[in-house]
Order: sequence, then C-alpha cells, then structure tokens
Amino acid sequence: MAIISLGSMAFDAIETPFGKIDKIVGGSGIYVAYASSHFTQPVQQISIVGNDFPEDEMNELKKRGVQLTGVEIVPDQKSFFWSGKYHLDMNTRDTLITDLNVLANFSPKVPEEYQGAEYLMLGNLMPSLQLSVIEQLRKRPKLIVLDTMNYWMATAMADLKNVLLKVDVLMINDSEARQLSDEYSLVRAAKKILQMGPEYLIIKKGEHGALLFHKEHVFFAPALPLDEVFDPTGAGDAFAGGFIGHIAHTKNTSFENMKTAIIVGSAMASFCVEKFGPQRLKEITRKDIDSRLTEFVQLSNFNIALV
Ligand code: AMP
Repeated sequence: MAIISLGSMAFDAIETPFGKIDKIVGGSGIYVAYASSHFTQPVQQISIVGNDFPEDEMNELKKRGVQLTGVEIVPDQKSFFWSGKYHLDMNTRDTLITDLNVLANFSPKVPEEYQGAEYLMLGNLMPSLQLSVIEQLRKRPKLIVLDTMNYWMATAMADLKNVLLKVDVLMINDSEARQLSDEYSLVRAAKKILQMGPEYLIIKKGEHGALLFHKEHVFFAPALPLDEVFDPTGAGDAFAGGFIGHIAHTKNTSFENMKTAIIVGSAMASFCVEKFGPQRLKEITRKDIDSRLTEFVQLSNFNIALV
C-alpha cells in the first residue's frame, strides 16, 4: 500500500497574530509525509533539499516509514525557503518571500524501488514536475491525487491543464476553484472543473470545511471549530496526507470511502493548526486521531424527523 508523495521540503518563516518564527521546517511534502504515515507506510518521498536541511528531520521521517531514496540532496545550494504572514482572520495570508533555491532546477526522478506504488499524492509544486512523475511510472497507480495553488494558475496554467487530464482527484481551495473555472458559484465551478480531467474534486474552505464533488453527487465535511488556531500553514497538505493515507490504508477508492477520507483529512488539518509547523503532526498518536474523529462524528450527526 505504498504512497508516492511529491512535494516541497523547505524552511518556512511564519508570522501569525499569535507569534512569529524565523526558521522552521516545512514544505508541502513534509506535511503530507507526517500526516499520511500515521495511516500507511511506506510513504515514498520525492523531493529536493540543499546542504542545510537537518539530518534529524530526515531521521525522524525515516523512523515513521518515510523512504527518502527519491529525495535529492544538493551539496552546494540552499533548501527552498518560503515566508508568509497571516491576517487577523487567519484564513488569508500574504506570501512575503519565495526563494526557490534548489527547486529552481529540480527534475524529479522516480527511484526503481518506488515503481508499482498504488497511490500517488502530487503535492503542491510546479505542474510540469507533477506530470513528469506520472510519466515515469510504468504502472498507473490506482489513485492519483493532485494539490495545487493560485500561484501555478497564474504562472503555469497550460501545464496545469495538461496534468489535470491525468489525475483522478483535484484538491484546491474555494478561491482557486473560482480562478480555475471563471465561475463564482462553487457548484458551477465544480461542474466545469470535473470536465477538465479529474473525476473527483475537493474544494477546501478553511474553517468552513470541505466539499467533495463527483458526477452529480456532493458531500460536505465540516471543519472542527477550534478554541485557537495557532498557525494554519500546512493545513491543506495535512488534509491531503490524511485523505490519501486513509484511502491507501483501506485500499478503497470509492466515493463512499472518500467521504470518510475527507473527514480524516479534516481531522489531520485540525491538529496541524494547533502549533507552528508540523510539530503537532509528530506528537499525536493513533488514539488522539481516533478521539478527534469521534468529535467530528458528533459534530454533524443528527436525526431530523420530517413532519
Ligand atoms: P499550505 O499552508 O497547505 O498551503 O502549505 C504551506 C507549505 O507550502 C509551506 O510549508 C511552504 O513551504 C510550501 N509552499 C509555499 N509555496 C510553495 C510553492 N510555490 N511550491 C511548493 N511549496 C510551497
């Protein structure tokens, strides 16, 4: 039940109304790896880092069943660096710095031992690199999930549309769905996007939950109302990791099982935002996850007597 995970491994600087941190490990691939490895191992990571990436972090990942054969280490360059500042509502943020560094010349190579993986999580990265990983796989995975962002819609729309033709599930947030489809209504946006390639579309709405679209069906998963959101960075990637981790663990790619998977994804996102960086994803146990899933069930479980 291996999952191949492509994504960035980075240093982030984050500022929120609650605090500031100048350097912390982050990147889409890091959050996906920590979240998904709670459910399925191995996670076969594909990424690139510079000579500055901490060995401790690599060892921590390995301990959790994350294989790093596909992570290139460039000896004379720095790792990808991203810096962001959140607004008071914690739902919106400004990107302050994007230093591509090693990512500028990244050309991912799928190691031989990763061939045959049944699940592929294409985390947020250049669409051309996401496509290159799909093309290197000799056997098509059972499920290909793609996460992307507004940045690539603005700078690489043609490449993005190309890779969308080859994936099963697309994950984006509400403003990105509007940007991609040119439609304001999310239902209309979903209809258009489902004609661009993916059979399933997940629209994330931050603290307002997530929608799963497939053909004429739609399912809604709430986000857990939290006392305090400390740092939303990586929530989308933790969601993606929980989603694909659950699908791989249960070996079931049906729409019904995807409903559970987006609840699992929402639970992982709710942990992620409780501390800076991926820290919470490392601390939590299976028991913590199960009790949070129970909270989700209680949150939206109701019976209505139709009169
Ligand atoms: P999220 O909050 O889910 O959007 O993910 C935030 C993570 O994505 C941060 O840890 C960043 O290092 C990483 N990130 C930000 N911009 C990019 C980008 N253009 N390409 C790849 N990763 C990025």
